Amino acid sequence: NRQILLDNRPQGEASAANFKLVATETPPLADGQVLVRHHYLSLDPYMRGRMNDSKSYAASQPLGEVMIGGTVGEVAESRHPDYAPGDAVVGMGGWQEYSVVDAGQPGVLRKVDTRRVPLSAYLGAVGMPGVTAYYGLVRIIDPKPGQTVTVTAASGAVGSAYAALAKARGCRVVGIAGGPEKCRYAEQELGFDVCIDYKAHDGDVRSLAKALKDACPDGIDGHFENVGGWILDAVMLRANAFSRIAVCGLIAGYDGQPLPMANPALILINRMRIEGFIVSEHMDVWPPALKELGELVATGKLRPRESVAEGIEAAPQAFLGMLKGRNFGKQLVKLI
Ligand code: NDP
Repeated sequence: NRQILLDNRPQGEASAANFKLVATETPPLADGQVLVRHHYLSLDPYMRGRMNDSKSYAASQPLGEVMIGGTVGEVAESRHPDYAPGDAVVGMGGWQEYSVVDAGQPGVLRKVDTRRVPLSAYLGAVGMPGVTAYYGLVRIIDPKPGQTVTVTAASGAVGSAYAALAKARGCRVVGIAGGPEKCRYAEQELGFDVCIDYKAHDGDVRSLAKALKDACPDGIDGHFENVGGWILDAVMLRANAFSRIAVCGLIAGYDGQPLPMANPALILINRMRIEGFIVSEHMDVWPPALKELGELVATGKLRPRESVAEGIEAAPQAFLGMLKGRNFGKQLVKLI
């Protein structure tokens, strides 16, 4: 069983030297345990925060242990009555090829149906990132049909689910993403009405705000923030009175970059509501969200793209690349 451990903590930017590849034997199963053979590992931006030991909403990743991470795979061996070899399961197996799971503990392992939804989608659109989009859109932004909603990191795992959910609610959906290829894909495949390439504006807040004005002639009623910094400043300039911003991620600052807000007076002037959230703290929303997202994928209304790295040894570089936008859609590692 090959595993990737967190070997040491990043000083500033994360690097491949923070990780270590090791090989171990999987221990024999005790009663109630299941051996899962992982097919895909999910790489997610939140893992960058876990690599630090600073205080946060989630415990930091202990050094010398297998990196935390969502996994999908199949039961290889079972000593639990509810699981049989061959069952497709989703869990938090971490950056390794196999995991031994106490299957009786609530929430650690879930059987999934792969007849209408592909296995890997349970790590993306029909998994944590999809539910994240749902929570921010439905619970915080709560848009009315015809309203305009926006999202940053638009072509990614969260952004793509957001577009499908917002379209299903009759919204105008405008994305912001890096590069013409991602923007073309967002408009042609994900259903965005317009996707703006922030890289074409090169840090110029006024210029991006002008592009947003053209794309959102009635202003912005709800915004889902994944990035922070100057891009958020531009969105704030176009936000309507009583608009809502769901603060989901601030990836532009994950390596420690400062992210000042240029004009907080806009919050007052526009009577805005800005609310941060952590999806794992809202378990009540998972069942309705997964149901709707599963239907969207099964019926082809949401066709999310995946970036797939091959082999556990490729996980660190794929993860670091994702933090820099080198992924195109949900970043996965294929293990077998
Ligand atoms: P993505 O698939 O969207 O990948 C991350 C993307 O972020 C990159 O592809 C890149 O897209 C963009 N990005 C990276 N650095 C910058 C930068 N400096 N400026 C602008 N864009 C940048 O990841 P996810 O969909 O999985 O996650 C999206 C966000 O959601 C993250 O911020 C994540 O932390 C957050 N999140 C929060 C959760 C919560 O509970 N609050 C749960 C899950 C995710 P591009 O090439 O377009 O720039």
